[in-house]
Amino acid sequence: MYKSFLIKYAEIAIKGKNRYLFEDALVSQISRALKKAEGTFRVRKEQGRIYVDMEGDCDFDEAIAAMRCVFGIVGICPLIQVEDKGFDALAGEVIAHIGEAYPDKRFTFKVNARRARKNYPLDSMEINAALGERILAAFPECSVDVHNPEIVIHVEIRSQINIYSVVIPGPGGMPVGTNGRGMLLLSGGIDSPVAGYMIAKRGVSIDATYFHAPPYTSERAKQKVVDLAKIVAKYAGPIHLHVVNFTDIQLYIYEQCPHEELTIIMRRYMMKLAEHFARESKCLGLITGESIGQVASQTMQSLAATNEVCTMPVYRPLIGFDKQEIVEISERIGAYETSILPYEDCCTIFVAKHPVTKPSLNVIHNDERKLAEKIEELMRTAIETAEVIRVEAD
Ligand code: ATP
Ligand code: MG
Repeated sequence: MYKSFLIKYAEIAIKGKNRYLFEDALVSQISRALKKAEGTFRVRKEQGRIYVDMEGDCDFDEAIAAMRCVFGIVGICPLIQVEDKGFDALAGEVIAHIGEAYPDKRFTFKVNARRARKNYPLDSMEINAALGERILAAFPECSVDVHNPEIVIHVEIRSQINIYSVVIPGPGGMPVGTNGRGMLLLSGGIDSPVAGYMIAKRGVSIDATYFHAPPYTSERAKQKVVDLAKIVAKYAGPIHLHVVNFTDIQLYIYEQCPHEELTIIMRRYMMKLAEHFARESKCLGLITGESIGQVASQTMQSLAATNEVCTMPVYRPLIGFDKQEIVEISERIGAYETSILPYEDCCTIFVAKHPVTKPSLNVIHNDERKLAEKIEELMRTAIETAEVIRVEAD
């Protein structure tokens, strides 16, 4: 029945002169997402509107599923687009549309007309009234309710006429590619994929760094992180995942430093290394899944100690979230099932029974001096041996 979609976007419409940049980014993100759907799609920008045309045989449901992952989209409207052949023809189209789209006609409705082309003989109010009458005459079971209708029939008079009554919600946010690039510290847990999703939602392109510790962490644990990156990539676009071998650094810290400080010191080196790759990839900030108080390494004192080594801004979109709130987003974006797979993470090996919760920076600085002999070289090796995997959504 439908051959096109009208794409609604809100936030980007208010960006003044940047509007065109945002629209172009949105068009290219929609095109990218639709490559995953069966069929040929054409995305076009016309008079401040974005349309997606389905050419030939297209999978309607797959197209909608793909577009529901595109940030910047507020609504996806399956669209009937017709030429203006006078009011009778328009009424006929609207009635045919309702006839096909709503098998049960016992609904309440209103018509919401917009006359963007002022030379149309009827104004918006007149179109609302006249179309309402025609619909009631064609389907006596339905009734008008202007305040709380079950169905709103939108009619936009432009150079062509748009008719739609279904608005499928999109994810909102801003199109990826409009707000620079960030480096996500991606582990195999629940939080970091959600953090990546949330920053990508603000239009930021994402790269990622994962620290593994073979043979203490397995190939399957790494695969799990690749799978999580794929899920984030469904929304954020392709991700360059840097896989860093952290084993020797971790063992060295374990040998040299008090065990209750291991996690904090380790996290400091993770941030330093992630920042190296961030700079290399022209990222403007780091992104983590940290949340105040969640674990010993995320108290205010611990976060301050971790943060101290960074020169780039560190974005922590989950900072004020409870675990349950994070889990809800994780489930909604389809990451949860993968995140809870039980493979070990490099943070869970060698963990101290009683990690410090209020690390003192002086003490940490002192203990890190014990790493002076080899740490620079170990970091260099970790950088040189890092593997970069280009991850795309399935
Ligand atoms: P997550 O649920 O995302 O795994 P977590 O609850 O395990 O996080 P921490 O281990 O304290 O919490 O890690 C805090 C943040 O540090 C993570 O959200 C992530 O951004 C980063 N991080 C932790 N471990 C790794 C790792 N092995 N590789 C990359 N980043 C990591
Ligand atoms: Mg966490």
